[in-house]
Amino acid sequence: MHLSLIVPLKNEAESLPELEAWIRRVVETLGLQYELIFVDDGSTDGSWEVIECLRAGNPNVRAIKFRRNYGKSAALHVGFQAARGKVVITLDADLQDSPDEIPELYRMIAEDGYDLVSGWKKKRFDPLEKRLPSKLFNAVARQISGIPLHDFNCGLKAYNQAVVKAIELYGEMHRWIPVLAKWAGFRRIGEKVVEHRPRRYGHSKFGWERYINGFLDLLSVYFVGKFGKRPMHFFGTLGVLSFLLGFIFLAYLSWAKLVYKEYGIADRPLFFFGILALVVGTQLFLTGFLAEIVNRNSPTRNEYLIEKEI
Ligand code: UDP
Ligand code: MG
Repeated sequence: MHLSLIVPLKNEAESLPELEAWIRRVVETLGLQYELIFVDDGSTDGSWEVIECLRAGNPNVRAIKFRRNYGKSAALHVGFQAARGKVVITLDADLQDSPDEIPELYRMIAEDGYDLVSGWKKKRFDPLEKRLPSKLFNAVARQISGIPLHDFNCGLKAYNQAVVKAIELYGEMHRWIPVLAKWAGFRRIGEKVVEHRPRRYGHSKFGWERYINGFLDLLSVYFVGKFGKRPMHFFGTLGVLSFLLGFIFLAYLSWAKLVYKEYGIADRPLFFFGILALVVGTQLFLTGFLAEIVNRNSPTRNEYLIEKEI
């Protein structure tokens, strides 16, 4: 199979028939073997019945229905697991992503050899209060991850099959897939300017919490990627530094008291700062130590992605 198209959806019944027809029109002119996988993330508006109808008219349609709403990341994860195509492309179901982009995205993965190509909604049809925070987020993500993408969270993305089988999406990690892919060792990450369209039916499924969760998730992705397999290197370094600092301050104060008979060292700010630094240092060190022990029992501790063997 050449191509898997994955569409996560929650309550998008009105958009689906148009989306399916459009995708079919585009992909069939390419003459590729393909599958179109709808993942119904707990819709309550009859989206599933629509999908059943679409399936009856097009045997390339496959679909998975969650018993309840688990979120877009979960839907994508299940879609990724089910995908059989050499190239995998994801699209939002709300017709904001244009299926006309599929041929070029497919070509970039299949012929140019990219591992991942992310859409870039250069001209974006969303309200300002969504575009501004998004700009900020993308700038922070570029800095933290070192990946020069303009638009990390575009729903329209294309992947080599190896990428989707290697990364694990959970929580709301779908925003940071390029970062996960990079940490998994996939370095050929590209970008394509894509057409973005205003939402015609329904409304956005994400509210303001997206910003808080999005930021925390970015920190987790970064931290787990960098130190997940060696937490002591992070906590231990900070802990030892803090402990040493505290030790030096307190040693200095003790010396002042014992040798110079200085009175009232317990009134000096340095005294409290020294104690605080000692305690915090010990705690950081212990946190690192505990993380190592937890890690010892992790089934993925010695899991590495092997690219080639001869
Ligand atoms: N979506 C989903 N599960 C959710 C929320 C959203 O599968 O819990 C789907 C939604 O149906 C759409 C895509 O994810 O196909 C993007 O969502 P939306 O258009 O609401 O996000 P926005 O464009 O506002 O970022
Ligand atoms: Mg949308």
